[in-house]
Amino acid sequence: MNTPKVNKDYDLICVGGGIMSATLALMAKILKPDLNILILEKLGKVAQESSAAWNNAGTGHSALCELNYTPENEDGTIDISKAISICNQFEISKQFWSYLVHTGHITDPHSFIHKVPHHSWVTGEANANYLEKRFNAMKEHFMFQHIEFTKDKDVMKKWFPLIMHNRKDDEAMAASRIERGTEVNYGELTKKLFHILETDYDTPVHCNEEVLDIDPDKDVEWSVKVKNTQIGNVQHLDAQHVFIGAGGGSLLLLEKVEIDEKDGYGGFPVSGQWLVCKNEAVIKQHHAKVYSKAGIGDPPMSVPHLDTRYIDGKRELLFGPFAGFSPKFLKEGSNLDLLKSINFKNIPSMLGGFWHNLPLTKYLIEQVAMSFDDRMDDLRKFVKDAKNEDWKVVVAGQRVQIIKRDEYEGGRLQFGTEVVSSKDGSITCLLGASPGASTAVKIMLDVLEKAFPEIINSEQGTKLLKEMVPTWNTEVDKTTFKNQLKHSEQALRL
Ligand SMILES: Cc1cc2nc3c(=O)[nH]c(=O)nc-3n(C[C@H](O)[C@H](O)[C@H](O)COP(=O)(O)OP(=O)(O)OC[C@H]3O[C@@H](n4cnc5c(N)ncnc54)[C@H](O)[C@@H]3O)c2cc1C
Repeated sequence: MNTPKVNKDYDLICVGGGIMSATLALMAKILKPDLNILILEKLGKVAQESSAAWNNAGTGHSALCELNYTPENEDGTIDISKAISICNQFEISKQFWSYLVHTGHITDPHSFIHKVPHHSWVTGEANANYLEKRFNAMKEHFMFQHIEFTKDKDVMKKWFPLIMHNRKDDEAMAASRIERGTEVNYGELTKKLFHILETDYDTPVHCNEEVLDIDPDKDVEWSVKVKNTQIGNVQHLDAQHVFIGAGGGSLLLLEKVEIDEKDGYGGFPVSGQWLVCKNEAVIKQHHAKVYSKAGIGDPPMSVPHLDTRYIDGKRELLFGPFAGFSPKFLKEGSNLDLLKSINFKNIPSMLGGFWHNLPLTKYLIEQVAMSFDDRMDDLRKFVKDAKNEDWKVVVAGQRVQIIKRDEYEGGRLQFGTEVVSSKDGSITCLLGASPGASTAVKIMLDVLEKAFPEIINSEQGTKLLKEMVPTWNTEVDKTTFKNQLKHSEQALRL
Protein backbone atom coordinates (compact mmCIF):
# COMPACT_ATOMS: atom_id res chain seq x y z
CA MET A 1 0.00 0.00 0.00
CA ASN A 2 1.46 3.35 -1.09
CA THR A 3 1.57 6.73 0.57
CA PRO A 4 -1.19 8.98 -0.80
CA LYS A 5 -0.11 11.70 -3.24
CA VAL A 6 0.04 15.20 -1.79
CA ASN A 7 -2.84 17.61 -2.47
CA LYS A 8 -4.85 15.21 -4.52
CA ASP A 9 -8.43 16.33 -4.69
CA TYR A 10 -10.79 13.55 -3.62
CA ASP A 11 -14.57 13.46 -3.94
CA LEU A 12 -14.71 11.51 -0.70
CA ILE A 13 -12.20 10.60 1.98
CA CYS A 14 -13.33 7.89 4.40
CA VAL A 15 -11.50 7.92 7.73
CA GLY A 16 -11.23 4.41 9.17
CA GLY A 17 -10.91 0.92 7.75
CA GLY A 18 -13.94 -0.70 9.39
CA ILE A 19 -17.21 -2.04 7.98
CA MET A 20 -18.85 1.39 7.84
CA SER A 21 -16.25 3.03 5.56
CA ALA A 22 -16.04 -0.12 3.44
CA THR A 23 -19.82 -0.23 2.94
CA LEU A 24 -20.12 3.49 2.23
CA ALA A 25 -17.24 3.62 -0.25
CA LEU A 26 -18.38 0.52 -2.15
CA MET A 27 -22.00 1.65 -2.46
CA ALA A 28 -20.86 5.10 -3.59
CA LYS A 29 -18.53 3.60 -6.24
CA ILE A 30 -21.23 1.26 -7.55
CA LEU A 31 -23.62 4.19 -7.86
CA LYS A 32 -21.02 6.48 -9.47
CA PRO A 33 -17.86 4.66 -10.54
CA ASP A 34 -15.96 7.84 -11.45
CA LEU A 35 -16.02 9.14 -7.85
CA ASN A 36 -12.50 9.63 -6.57
CA ILE A 37 -12.47 7.98 -3.12
CA LEU A 38 -9.65 7.37 -0.66
CA ILE A 39 -9.70 5.27 2.53
CA LEU A 40 -7.33 6.17 5.39
CA GLU A 41 -6.72 3.66 8.19
CA LYS A 42 -4.31 4.30 11.04
CA LEU A 43 -3.48 0.67 11.82
CA GLY A 44 -1.37 -1.63 9.64
CA LYS A 45 -4.41 -3.51 8.30
CA VAL A 46 -8.14 -2.90 7.84
CA ALA A 47 -10.81 -4.48 10.10
CA GLN A 48 -8.71 -4.63 13.27
CA GLU A 49 -11.00 -2.74 15.67
CA SER A 50 -14.75 -3.32 16.35
CA SER A 51 -15.33 -4.93 12.95
CA ALA A 52 -12.78 -7.71 13.62
CA ALA A 53 -14.45 -11.09 14.20
CA TRP A 54 -13.19 -11.62 17.78
CA ASN A 55 -14.05 -8.04 18.76
CA ASN A 56 -17.83 -8.31 18.21
CA ALA A 57 -20.49 -10.99 18.71
CA GLY A 58 -21.06 -11.66 15.02
CA THR A 59 -24.81 -11.65 15.39
CA GLY A 60 -26.84 -10.65 12.37
CA HIS A 61 -29.04 -8.42 14.53
CA SER A 62 -32.52 -8.89 13.14
CA ALA A 63 -34.45 -8.84 16.43
CA LEU A 64 -35.11 -12.58 16.27
CA CYS A 65 -33.67 -13.21 19.74
CA GLU A 66 -32.61 -9.92 21.40
CA LEU A 67 -35.18 -9.15 24.09
CA ASN A 68 -34.18 -5.49 24.39
CA TYR A 69 -35.89 -4.83 21.03
CA THR A 70 -39.27 -6.01 22.39
CA PRO A 71 -39.90 -4.15 25.66
CA GLU A 72 -42.98 -4.71 27.77
CA ASN A 73 -45.32 -1.69 27.99
CA GLU A 74 -46.73 -0.56 31.32
CA ASP A 75 -50.07 -2.18 30.44
CA GLY A 76 -48.31 -5.52 29.95
CA THR A 77 -48.46 -5.55 26.14
CA ILE A 78 -45.28 -6.06 24.10
CA ASP A 79 -43.98 -3.34 21.80
CA ILE A 80 -42.51 -4.95 18.67
CA SER A 81 -42.02 -1.75 16.62
CA LYS A 82 -38.26 -1.61 17.25
CA ALA A 83 -37.97 -5.29 16.33
CA ILE A 84 -39.69 -4.65 12.98
CA SER A 85 -37.32 -1.77 12.23
CA ILE A 86 -34.16 -3.74 13.13
CA CYS A 87 -35.32 -6.79 11.17
CA ASN A 88 -35.96 -4.61 8.13
CA GLN A 89 -32.52 -3.02 8.37
CA PHE A 90 -30.71 -6.35 8.52
CA GLU A 91 -32.65 -7.59 5.50
CA ILE A 92 -31.40 -4.51 3.62
CA SER A 93 -27.83 -5.52 4.50
CA LYS A 94 -28.50 -9.05 3.25
CA GLN A 95 -29.93 -7.64 0.01
CA PHE A 96 -26.75 -5.64 -0.64
CA TRP A 97 -24.50 -8.61 0.11
CA SER A 98 -26.69 -10.73 -2.21
CA TYR A 99 -26.29 -8.10 -4.93
CA LEU A 100 -22.50 -8.47 -4.57
CA VAL A 101 -22.89 -12.23 -5.03
CA HIS A 102 -25.09 -11.76 -8.12
CA THR A 103 -22.65 -9.32 -9.69
CA GLY A 104 -19.79 -11.78 -9.11
CA HIS A 105 -17.91 -9.59 -6.61
CA ILE A 106 -18.42 -12.16 -3.84
CA THR A 107 -18.14 -15.81 -4.79
CA ASP A 108 -18.03 -17.51 -1.38
CA PRO A 109 -20.69 -16.08 0.98
CA HIS A 110 -19.93 -18.83 3.50
CA SER A 111 -16.63 -17.16 4.17
CA PHE A 112 -18.56 -14.53 6.16
CA ILE A 113 -22.17 -15.63 6.78
CA HIS A 114 -23.76 -18.82 8.15
CA LYS A 115 -27.23 -19.82 9.17
CA VAL A 116 -27.32 -20.31 12.94
CA PRO A 117 -30.77 -20.45 14.64
CA HIS A 118 -31.52 -17.58 17.02
CA HIS A 119 -33.09 -18.31 20.42
CA SER A 120 -34.28 -16.34 23.41
CA TRP A 121 -34.09 -18.27 26.65
CA VAL A 122 -35.24 -17.17 30.09
CA THR A 123 -35.62 -18.67 33.55
CA GLY A 124 -38.23 -17.97 36.24
CA GLU A 125 -42.03 -17.71 35.96
CA ALA A 126 -42.21 -13.96 35.33
CA ASN A 127 -39.64 -14.05 32.50
CA ALA A 128 -41.28 -17.12 30.97
CA ASN A 129 -44.62 -15.28 30.92
CA TYR A 130 -42.99 -12.26 29.28
CA LEU A 131 -41.43 -14.49 26.62
CA GLU A 132 -44.78 -16.14 25.89
CA LYS A 133 -46.45 -12.73 25.48
CA ARG A 134 -43.60 -11.67 23.20
CA PHE A 135 -44.07 -14.84 21.14
CA ASN A 136 -47.81 -14.15 20.79
CA ALA A 137 -47.15 -10.57 19.66
CA MET A 138 -44.37 -11.48 17.22
CA LYS A 139 -46.03 -14.43 15.51
CA GLU A 140 -48.79 -12.09 14.28
CA HIS A 141 -46.30 -10.14 12.21
CA PHE A 142 -45.15 -11.58 8.88
CA MET A 143 -41.49 -10.88 9.66
CA PHE A 144 -41.59 -13.21 12.65
CA GLN A 145 -44.42 -15.61 11.76
CA HIS A 146 -42.13 -18.66 11.93
CA ILE A 147 -41.21 -18.04 15.57
CA GLU A 148 -41.57 -21.12 17.79
CA PHE A 149 -42.10 -21.07 21.56
CA THR A 150 -41.82 -23.73 24.24
CA LYS A 151 -41.80 -24.31 27.98
CA ASP A 152 -41.09 -27.98 27.34
CA LYS A 153 -37.56 -28.94 28.41
CA ASP A 154 -37.44 -31.84 25.94
CA VAL A 155 -37.95 -29.41 23.07
CA MET A 156 -35.25 -27.12 24.50
CA LYS A 157 -32.93 -30.14 24.74
CA LYS A 158 -33.24 -30.47 20.97
CA TRP A 159 -32.70 -26.77 20.38
CA PHE A 160 -29.67 -26.27 22.68
CA PRO A 161 -28.62 -29.51 24.41
CA LEU A 162 -25.52 -28.03 26.05
CA ILE A 163 -27.62 -25.55 28.04
CA MET A 164 -30.20 -28.18 28.99
CA HIS A 165 -27.70 -30.72 30.31
CA ASN A 166 -28.27 -31.56 34.02
CA ARG A 167 -31.33 -29.32 34.43
CA LYS A 168 -33.77 -30.04 37.28
CA ASP A 169 -37.41 -30.73 36.42
CA ASP A 170 -38.71 -27.97 38.71
CA GLU A 171 -36.70 -25.12 37.09
CA ALA A 172 -39.18 -22.77 35.36
CA MET A 173 -37.93 -21.71 31.94
CA ALA A 174 -39.09 -20.88 28.43
CA ALA A 175 -37.49 -20.41 25.04
CA SER A 176 -38.30 -19.19 21.56
CA ARG A 177 -36.56 -19.97 18.29
CA ILE A 178 -36.38 -18.54 14.82
CA GLU A 179 -34.60 -20.88 12.49
CA ARG A 180 -33.38 -18.36 9.93
CA GLY A 181 -30.92 -16.49 12.24
CA THR A 182 -27.43 -15.72 11.04
CA GLU A 183 -23.86 -15.61 12.31
CA VAL A 184 -21.69 -13.09 10.49
CA ASN A 185 -17.93 -12.65 10.41
CA TYR A 186 -17.93 -8.89 9.95
CA GLY A 187 -14.14 -8.78 9.85
CA GLU A 188 -13.97 -11.11 6.88
CA LEU A 189 -16.78 -9.21 5.17
CA THR A 190 -15.00 -5.87 5.72
CA LYS A 191 -11.79 -7.23 4.18
CA LYS A 192 -13.79 -8.50 1.21
CA LEU A 193 -15.48 -5.14 0.63
CA PHE A 194 -12.12 -3.34 0.70
CA HIS A 195 -10.66 -5.93 -1.68
CA ILE A 196 -13.52 -5.30 -4.12
CA LEU A 197 -12.90 -1.56 -3.84
CA GLU A 198 -9.19 -1.93 -4.55
CA THR A 199 -9.37 -4.48 -7.34
CA ASP A 200 -12.65 -3.72 -9.14
CA TYR A 201 -13.19 -0.04 -8.39
CA ASP A 202 -9.66 1.37 -8.39
CA THR A 203 -10.09 2.79 -4.89
CA PRO A 204 -6.94 3.02 -2.76
CA VAL A 205 -7.00 1.81 0.83
CA HIS A 206 -4.06 3.35 2.67
CA CYS A 207 -3.06 1.81 6.01
CA ASN A 208 -0.71 3.32 8.62
CA GLU A 209 -2.26 6.71 7.88
CA GLU A 210 -3.69 8.47 10.92
CA VAL A 211 -6.02 11.40 10.36
CA LEU A 212 -5.05 14.12 12.85
CA ASP A 213 -7.40 16.92 11.88
CA ILE A 214 -10.01 17.99 9.34
CA ASP A 215 -10.23 21.70 8.55
CA PRO A 216 -12.43 23.74 6.25
CA ASP A 217 -10.63 24.83 3.08
CA LYS A 218 -11.44 27.85 0.94
CA ASP A 219 -10.91 26.10 -2.42
CA VAL A 220 -12.23 22.60 -1.77
CA GLU A 221 -14.54 21.78 1.16
CA TRP A 222 -12.10 20.05 3.51
CA SER A 223 -8.39 19.66 4.12
CA VAL A 224 -7.52 16.40 5.83
CA LYS A 225 -4.30 16.37 7.86
CA VAL A 226 -2.83 12.89 7.86
CA LYS A 227 0.29 11.42 9.42
CA ASN A 228 2.05 8.28 8.29
CA THR A 229 2.52 6.25 11.47
CA GLN A 230 5.56 4.41 10.05
CA ILE A 231 7.70 7.25 8.77
CA GLY A 232 6.05 10.16 10.55
CA ASN A 233 5.53 12.50 7.57
CA VAL A 234 2.44 14.70 7.61
CA GLN A 235 0.41 15.65 4.51
CA HIS A 236 -2.75 17.61 3.75
CA LEU A 237 -5.25 15.99 1.39
CA ASP A 238 -8.18 17.81 -0.18
CA ALA A 239 -11.68 16.42 -0.26
CA GLN A 240 -15.14 17.59 -1.27
CA HIS A 241 -16.65 15.17 1.25
CA VAL A 242 -15.31 13.47 4.35
CA PHE A 243 -16.85 10.55 6.22
CA ILE A 244 -15.54 9.98 9.76
CA GLY A 245 -15.98 6.23 10.19
CA ALA A 246 -13.28 5.90 12.84
CA GLY A 247 -15.39 3.74 15.19
CA GLY A 248 -14.59 4.70 18.78
CA GLY A 249 -12.15 7.30 17.40
CA SER A 250 -14.91 9.22 15.60
CA LEU A 251 -15.87 11.48 18.51
CA LEU A 252 -12.31 12.74 19.04
CA LEU A 253 -12.02 13.66 15.36
CA LEU A 254 -15.49 15.20 15.17
CA GLU A 255 -14.61 17.47 18.09
CA LYS A 256 -11.81 18.96 15.96
CA VAL A 257 -14.11 19.77 13.04
CA GLU A 258 -15.44 23.31 12.95
CA ILE A 259 -19.17 22.65 12.62
CA ASP A 260 -21.86 23.64 15.13
CA GLU A 261 -23.63 20.27 14.81
CA LYS A 262 -20.89 18.55 16.86
CA ASP A 263 -21.55 20.59 20.00
CA GLY A 264 -22.77 18.83 23.11
CA TYR A 265 -21.78 15.29 22.09
CA GLY A 266 -19.73 13.23 24.49
CA GLY A 267 -18.78 9.57 24.71
CA PHE A 268 -18.68 6.86 27.35
CA PRO A 269 -16.32 3.95 26.62
CA VAL A 270 -17.30 0.40 27.52
CA SER A 271 -14.85 -2.44 27.03
CA GLY A 272 -15.74 -6.10 26.68
CA GLN A 273 -14.50 -9.64 27.23
CA TRP A 274 -15.62 -13.10 26.11
CA LEU A 275 -15.24 -16.52 27.58
CA VAL A 276 -14.12 -18.65 24.64
CA CYS A 277 -14.38 -22.44 24.71
CA LYS A 278 -11.18 -24.43 24.07
CA ASN A 279 -12.74 -27.90 24.17
CA GLU A 280 -13.76 -29.19 20.71
CA ALA A 281 -16.14 -31.75 22.21
CA VAL A 282 -18.05 -28.97 24.01
CA ILE A 283 -18.02 -26.65 20.97
CA LYS A 284 -19.67 -29.41 18.91
CA GLN A 285 -22.59 -29.70 21.34
CA HIS A 286 -23.97 -26.24 20.59
CA HIS A 287 -25.18 -24.89 17.25
CA ALA A 288 -27.21 -21.83 18.16
CA LYS A 289 -27.21 -18.25 19.33
CA VAL A 290 -28.99 -18.15 22.68
CA TYR A 291 -29.75 -14.71 24.11
CA SER A 292 -31.11 -14.28 27.62
CA LYS A 293 -32.32 -11.24 29.55
CA ALA A 294 -30.17 -8.45 30.98
CA GLY A 295 -30.40 -8.00 34.76
CA ILE A 296 -32.77 -5.29 36.03
CA GLY A 297 -31.12 -1.89 35.43
CA ASP A 298 -28.29 -3.40 33.38
CA PRO A 299 -27.64 -1.80 29.95
CA PRO A 300 -28.73 -3.55 26.71
CA MET A 301 -25.16 -4.46 25.76
CA SER A 302 -24.95 -6.60 28.92
CA VAL A 303 -27.40 -9.25 27.66
CA PRO A 304 -25.56 -12.55 28.16
CA HIS A 305 -25.50 -14.94 25.20
CA LEU A 306 -23.95 -18.24 24.23
CA ASP A 307 -23.05 -18.22 20.56
CA THR A 308 -21.79 -20.50 17.87
CA ARG A 309 -19.31 -18.53 15.78
CA TYR A 310 -17.45 -19.23 12.55
CA ILE A 311 -14.05 -17.55 12.68
CA ASP A 312 -11.08 -18.21 10.39
CA GLY A 313 -12.81 -21.25 8.95
CA LYS A 314 -13.36 -22.83 12.39
CA ARG A 315 -16.48 -23.29 14.51
CA GLU A 316 -16.13 -21.57 17.91
CA LEU A 317 -18.22 -21.14 21.07
CA LEU A 318 -18.31 -17.76 22.85
CA PHE A 319 -20.06 -16.56 25.99
CA GLY A 320 -20.49 -12.98 27.11
CA PRO A 321 -19.91 -10.17 26.69
CA PHE A 322 -18.66 -9.11 30.11
CA ALA A 323 -18.44 -5.36 30.16
CA GLY A 324 -15.67 -3.34 31.71
CA PHE A 325 -14.36 0.15 31.92
CA SER A 326 -11.31 1.48 30.08
CA PRO A 327 -10.75 5.16 29.28
CA LYS A 328 -9.65 4.16 25.75
CA PHE A 329 -12.00 4.85 22.84
CA LEU A 330 -10.41 2.17 20.63
CA LYS A 331 -8.77 -1.13 21.58
CA GLU A 332 -5.56 0.36 20.16
CA GLY A 333 -6.42 3.75 21.63
CA SER A 334 -4.87 5.90 24.38
CA ASN A 335 -5.64 6.01 28.11
CA LEU A 336 -6.13 9.75 27.64
CA ASP A 337 -9.01 9.36 25.13
CA LEU A 338 -11.84 9.95 27.61
CA LEU A 339 -10.11 12.93 29.19
CA LYS A 340 -9.30 14.45 25.80
CA SER A 341 -12.93 14.12 24.70
CA ILE A 342 -14.21 16.38 27.49
CA ASN A 343 -14.52 20.07 26.60
CA PHE A 344 -16.50 22.99 27.96
CA LYS A 345 -19.28 22.45 25.39
CA ASN A 346 -19.97 18.84 26.37
CA ILE A 347 -19.36 19.03 30.14
CA PRO A 348 -23.11 19.53 30.92
CA SER A 349 -24.01 16.54 28.69
CA MET A 350 -21.29 14.40 30.28
CA LEU A 351 -22.34 15.29 33.83
CA GLY A 352 -26.04 14.80 33.04
CA GLY A 353 -25.36 11.53 31.22
CA PHE A 354 -23.28 10.27 34.14
CA TRP A 355 -25.67 11.41 36.89
CA HIS A 356 -28.73 9.87 35.24
CA ASN A 357 -26.95 6.57 34.57
CA LEU A 358 -25.56 5.69 37.97
CA PRO A 359 -26.89 2.09 37.61
CA LEU A 360 -24.64 1.75 34.50
CA THR A 361 -21.62 2.94 36.50
CA LYS A 362 -22.50 0.49 39.28
CA TYR A 363 -22.91 -2.30 36.73
CA LEU A 364 -19.52 -1.51 35.13
CA ILE A 365 -17.77 -1.40 38.52
CA GLU A 366 -19.23 -4.81 39.37
CA GLN A 367 -18.20 -6.21 36.00
CA VAL A 368 -14.63 -4.90 36.30
CA ALA A 369 -14.33 -6.48 39.73
CA MET A 370 -15.24 -9.95 38.42
CA SER A 371 -12.59 -12.64 38.63
CA PHE A 372 -12.25 -15.51 36.15
CA ASP A 373 -14.14 -17.71 38.64
CA ASP A 374 -16.98 -15.17 38.89
CA ARG A 375 -17.27 -15.16 35.10
CA MET A 376 -17.31 -18.95 35.02
CA ASP A 377 -20.15 -18.82 37.58
CA ASP A 378 -22.10 -16.59 35.18
CA LEU A 379 -21.41 -19.04 32.37
CA ARG A 380 -22.66 -21.89 34.58
CA LYS A 381 -26.12 -20.25 34.54
CA PHE A 382 -26.05 -21.31 30.86
CA VAL A 383 -23.76 -24.35 30.85
CA LYS A 384 -24.25 -25.99 34.25
CA ASP A 385 -21.20 -28.24 34.18
CA ALA A 386 -18.77 -25.84 32.43
CA LYS A 387 -15.20 -26.63 33.52
CA ASN A 388 -12.66 -23.83 34.14
CA GLU A 389 -10.00 -25.60 32.07
CA ASP A 390 -12.24 -25.60 28.98
CA TRP A 391 -12.59 -21.82 28.77
CA LYS A 392 -10.32 -18.79 28.37
CA VAL A 393 -10.84 -15.02 28.42
CA VAL A 394 -10.50 -13.08 25.15
CA VAL A 395 -10.70 -9.27 25.03
CA ALA A 396 -13.51 -7.94 22.81
CA GLY A 397 -13.82 -4.59 21.07
CA GLN A 398 -14.29 -1.20 22.63
CA ARG A 399 -17.63 0.63 22.27
CA VAL A 400 -18.14 4.34 22.81
CA GLN A 401 -21.75 5.02 23.75
CA ILE A 402 -23.07 8.42 22.75
CA ILE A 403 -23.83 11.05 25.37
CA LYS A 404 -26.07 13.71 23.90
CA ARG A 405 -27.25 17.10 25.13
CA ASP A 406 -30.68 16.87 26.74
CA GLU A 407 -32.95 19.79 27.62
CA TYR A 408 -34.20 18.26 30.86
CA GLU A 409 -31.40 16.01 32.11
CA GLY A 410 -28.38 17.97 30.82
CA GLY A 411 -27.15 14.91 28.97
CA ARG A 412 -28.55 11.56 27.95
CA LEU A 413 -26.72 8.30 27.32
CA GLN A 414 -27.79 6.59 24.08
CA PHE A 415 -27.23 2.99 23.06
CA GLY A 416 -27.88 3.43 19.34
CA THR A 417 -25.94 5.02 16.50
CA GLU A 418 -26.24 8.51 15.14
CA VAL A 419 -25.03 10.21 11.97
CA VAL A 420 -23.86 13.76 12.73
CA SER A 421 -23.36 15.95 9.67
CA SER A 422 -22.77 19.51 8.55
CA LYS A 423 -25.80 21.28 7.05
CA ASP A 424 -24.53 20.78 3.50
CA GLY A 425 -23.66 17.11 4.12
CA SER A 426 -20.03 17.62 3.05
CA ILE A 427 -18.85 16.11 6.33
CA THR A 428 -20.57 13.20 8.04
CA CYS A 429 -19.61 11.25 11.12
CA LEU A 430 -20.96 8.06 12.67
CA LEU A 431 -21.17 7.93 16.45
CA GLY A 432 -22.29 5.00 18.63
CA ALA A 433 -22.10 1.26 18.26
CA SER A 434 -25.49 -0.49 18.22
CA PRO A 435 -27.06 -2.41 16.52
CA GLY A 436 -23.82 -1.93 14.66
CA ALA A 437 -22.35 -3.80 11.77
CA SER A 438 -25.64 -5.60 10.98
CA THR A 439 -27.25 -2.35 9.98
CA ALA A 440 -24.20 -0.87 8.20
CA VAL A 441 -25.96 -0.75 4.82
CA LYS A 442 -28.99 1.20 6.07
CA ILE A 443 -26.81 3.59 8.10
CA MET A 444 -24.46 4.22 5.16
CA LEU A 445 -27.46 4.83 2.87
CA ASP A 446 -28.44 7.56 5.35
CA VAL A 447 -24.92 8.99 4.98
CA LEU A 448 -25.14 8.83 1.17
CA GLU A 449 -28.47 10.66 1.27
CA LYS A 450 -26.91 13.46 3.29
CA ALA A 451 -23.62 13.65 1.39
CA PHE A 452 -24.59 12.79 -2.19
CA PRO A 453 -28.33 13.43 -2.70
CA GLU A 454 -27.70 14.21 -6.38
CA ILE A 455 -26.33 10.68 -6.93
CA ILE A 456 -29.03 8.92 -4.91
CA ASN A 457 -31.81 10.82 -6.69
CA SER A 458 -30.42 10.60 -10.23
CA GLU A 459 -32.17 8.32 -12.72
CA GLN A 460 -29.19 5.96 -12.73
CA GLY A 461 -28.89 6.07 -8.92
CA THR A 462 -32.55 5.24 -8.35
CA LYS A 463 -32.37 2.36 -10.83
CA LEU A 464 -29.22 0.89 -9.27
CA LEU A 465 -30.52 1.26 -5.73
CA LYS A 466 -33.61 -0.75 -6.66
CA GLU A 467 -31.28 -3.57 -7.71
CA MET A 468 -28.87 -3.23 -4.76
CA VAL A 469 -31.36 -2.77 -1.91
CA PRO A 470 -34.87 -3.40 -3.26
CA THR A 471 -36.75 -2.72 -0.01
CA TRP A 472 -34.82 0.37 1.08
CA ASN A 473 -37.13 3.37 1.62
CA THR A 474 -40.24 1.31 0.81
CA GLU A 475 -43.16 0.11 2.88
CA VAL A 476 -42.51 -3.63 3.02
CA ASP A 477 -45.53 -5.90 2.73
CA LYS A 478 -45.78 -9.63 3.44
CA THR A 479 -45.27 -10.81 -0.15
CA THR A 480 -42.29 -8.52 -0.81
CA PHE A 481 -40.68 -9.53 2.48
CA LYS A 482 -41.13 -13.23 1.75
CA ASN A 483 -39.77 -12.93 -1.79
CA GLN A 484 -36.78 -10.84 -0.80
CA LEU A 485 -35.96 -13.12 2.12
CA LYS A 486 -36.01 -16.15 -0.18
CA HIS A 487 -33.89 -14.34 -2.74
CA SER A 488 -31.22 -13.36 -0.15
CA GLU A 489 -31.19 -16.81 1.43
CA GLN A 490 -30.54 -18.38 -1.97
CA ALA A 491 -27.82 -15.89 -2.91
CA LEU A 492 -26.05 -16.12 0.46
CA ARG A 493 -26.56 -19.91 0.59
CA LEU A 494 -28.26 -19.81 3.98
C1 LIG B 1 -18.28 -6.38 22.21
C2 LIG B 1 -18.99 -5.98 20.94
C3 LIG B 1 -19.97 -6.80 20.40
C4 LIG B 1 -20.63 -6.42 19.23
N1 LIG B 1 -21.53 -7.30 18.68
C5 LIG B 1 -22.12 -6.99 17.50
C6 LIG B 1 -22.97 -7.93 16.88
O1 LIG B 1 -23.19 -9.03 17.37
N2 LIG B 1 -23.57 -7.58 15.71
C7 LIG B 1 -23.35 -6.37 15.14
O2 LIG B 1 -23.93 -6.11 14.09
N3 LIG B 1 -22.52 -5.45 15.70
C8 LIG B 1 -21.89 -5.74 16.86
N4 LIG B 1 -21.04 -4.85 17.44
C9 LIG B 1 -20.89 -3.51 16.84
C10 LIG B 1 -20.00 -3.53 15.61
O3 LIG B 1 -18.85 -4.28 15.86
C11 LIG B 1 -19.63 -2.09 15.23
O4 LIG B 1 -20.80 -1.31 15.16
C12 LIG B 1 -18.94 -1.98 13.89
O5 LIG B 1 -17.92 -2.93 13.75
C13 LIG B 1 -18.37 -0.58 13.76
O6 LIG B 1 -17.69 -0.46 12.54
P1 LIG B 1 -16.89 0.85 12.21
O7 LIG B 1 -16.43 0.74 10.81
O8 LIG B 1 -17.72 2.03 12.56
O9 LIG B 1 -15.70 0.88 13.27
P2 LIG B 1 -14.37 0.00 13.42
O10 LIG B 1 -14.52 -1.36 12.92
O11 LIG B 1 -13.94 0.17 14.84
O12 LIG B 1 -13.37 0.73 12.46
C14 LIG B 1 -12.91 2.04 12.72
C15 LIG B 1 -11.52 2.14 12.16
O13 LIG B 1 -11.08 3.50 12.21
C16 LIG B 1 -9.70 3.50 12.51
N5 LIG B 1 -9.36 4.83 13.04
C17 LIG B 1 -9.70 5.35 14.23
N6 LIG B 1 -9.22 6.60 14.33
C18 LIG B 1 -8.59 6.87 13.16
C19 LIG B 1 -7.88 8.01 12.67
N7 LIG B 1 -7.76 9.12 13.38
N8 LIG B 1 -7.32 7.95 11.43
C20 LIG B 1 -7.45 6.82 10.67
N9 LIG B 1 -8.10 5.71 11.10
C21 LIG B 1 -8.66 5.76 12.33
C22 LIG B 1 -9.56 2.38 13.51
O14 LIG B 1 -8.22 1.93 13.59
C23 LIG B 1 -10.50 1.34 12.95
O15 LIG B 1 -9.85 0.45 12.06
C24 LIG B 1 -20.33 -5.20 18.60
C25 LIG B 1 -19.33 -4.38 19.12
C26 LIG B 1 -18.65 -4.77 20.27
C27 LIG B 1 -17.54 -3.90 20.78
